[in-house]
Amino acid sequence: MKFDRLLKETLENIHDDDHVSGNINTPLRDDAFKLSDKEKIALIEHDMVRILETLGMDLTDDSLKGTPKRVAKMFVNELFAGLHPNNKPSASTFENKYKYGEMLVEKNITLYSTCEHHLLPIVGKAHVAYISNGTVVGLSKMNRIVDYFAKRPQVQERLTLQVVNALQEVLNTEDVACVIDAKHLCVNARGIRDIDSSTVTAEFGGAFKKAEVKKEFIGYLNLDTSF
Ligand SMILES: [Zn+2]
Repeated sequence: MKFDRLLKETLENIHDDDHVSGNINTPLRDDAFKLSDKEKIALIEHDMVRILETLGMDLTDDSLKGTPKRVAKMFVNELFAGLHPNNKPSASTFENKYKYGEMLVEKNITLYSTCEHHLLPIVGKAHVAYISNGTVVGLSKMNRIVDYFAKRPQVQERLTLQVVNALQEVLNTEDVACVIDAKHLCVNARGIRDIDSSTVTAEFGGAFKKAEVKKEFIGYLNLDTSF
C-alpha cells in the first residue's frame, strides 16, 4: 500500500518535475535587462511583501520586516546574478607552452544552483575536463564558469550543456566534458522527499565521446561508469 502511494507520487513528480529542456539557452524575455539591478530589487521587494502578507505573515514584526528587501537583494545580486551577461567571467586564456597534451580535469567544483521549477536549491559537485588544443585557461576559470551558469534559475541538464558550451568557446575546442552530481531540494525535502537520491548529468564533447577517453575521465572521478 505504501509502495503504491510512493509510486503514484513518483509518477506525479515526473510530470511535475518535467526537467526536459530542448534549448541550451536560459529562457529570457526580450526586456530582461531593461531595468537596472536597483530597479529590479525595488520591484521584487514590493512583490515579496505581497507574497508574505498573502501567506498571513505580519511584516511589522522585527524579525520579518527586513525579509522582503533581503530576499530581493539576494535574488538579484547573488542567487540569480548569472542571468546578467555583465557578470560572465572574462575569458582570459593562455598559450599551452608546456605542450601538455593530456586531459586536464577540474573535479569536485562546489555547485550551488536553484531549480527553476520550484526555486529550491540544487547542491552538488561539478567535474569539468578538457584536452587542450593549444589554449589553456586558469584553473579557477572553470569554477567561475560553473558558478556563473549555476547562478540562474536552472535545470541540471541545461546547466551541464551551458558549462560545456562556454568552455568549448573559450578553449576553441570541442574536447570538453562536464559531469554534475547534485541533490535537488525539490526532490529531497518536498514531494517524494527522498533525501538520498541525487541526479547525475553528463555532456561529453568531441574526443570525450570516445569510450576510452570517457572512461579515463570517469576514472579520475572515481565514479561508476553506469551512465
Ligand atoms: Zn524542482
